Amino acid sequence: MNFDLTGKVAFVTGGNGGIGLGMAKGLAQAGASVVIAGRDKSKAEQAVAELRAFGGTGEFTELDVLDEQACKAVIDATAARFGRLDILVNNAGTTVRKAPEQLSAGEWHQVMDTNLTSALLCAQAAFPHMVKAGGGKIICTGSMMSIFASSWAVAYAASKGGIVQLARSLAVAWAKDNIQVNTILPGWIDTDLTRSARAQVPGLNERVLARTPAARWGDPNDFAGVAVFLASSASDFITGTAIPVDGGYSVQV
Ligand code: NDP
Repeated sequence: MNFDLTGKVAFVTGGNGGIGLGMAKGLAQAGASVVIAGRDKSKAEQAVAELRAFGGTGEFTELDVLDEQACKAVIDATAARFGRLDILVNNAGTTVRKAPEQLSAGEWHQVMDTNLTSALLCAQAAFPHMVKAGGGKIICTGSMMSIFASSWAVAYAASKGGIVQLARSLAVAWAKDNIQVNTILPGWIDTDLTRSARAQVPGLNERVLARTPAARWGDPNDFAGVAVFLASSASDFITGTAIPVDGGYSVQV
């Protein structure tokens, strides 16, 4: 059993804040060189400082995951810069909160392409580098809405259901290449995304606290351990799974 990531190189979309940064910090603490990718440079400065505090290499690269060419270009550049790529975390995500009858096709595509299409594009870009390295680890960020439905987040729920099946399909396709692909399913986590949800959805905070057996919101740092596990050789025989990190939310009726 080995959780050490020394010498490994990780690329984390949406790693400049929230859950992505929580995972990136775990990977950095375990010894990986970590490149975090996103659009917002102002958040990135603080995030990079937090990664470097573990003593290793932490870098930010600007990326809009809706840009198909850019996904491949920055992943190729990361592999060229560090000489390898071992770990991809497909975490960038967004939502539009509306009744389904009010959702435009543009809003649907924006959510689906950010949350789901980008995961395929980044995985396709990472694949040859992982094959060259002799294997790799891909971690996707799902949601409780990979399991449960929502009347006010239909595109989000569709994308998060889809990402589990995407990860399972990649896991099956690339097992021969020693690439393991798994999804984490966060419960309700205190981040920018849910701070806006709490502002928009009356009673959400109370409902989350009442429904979560752990009786608290999750913290981004709750994702460090699962990221290290799924990125390390400790999980070499685990692929195609979806692991809830939810304080028990998904097991309580
Ligand atoms: P944040 O808003 O903090 O994180 C979202 C991240 O996605 C940001 O870092 C953002 O970077 C990045 N992102 C969004 N759109 C793009 C884009 N077009 N290109 C590049 N990066 C992009 O919220 P969370 O940490 O909560 O969300 C992270 C993931 O966790 C998402 O996939 C979300 O769906 C999922 N999740 C969150 C839950 C929660 O309770 N918080 C529950 C279940 C799932 P930037 O700001 O630079 O654009």
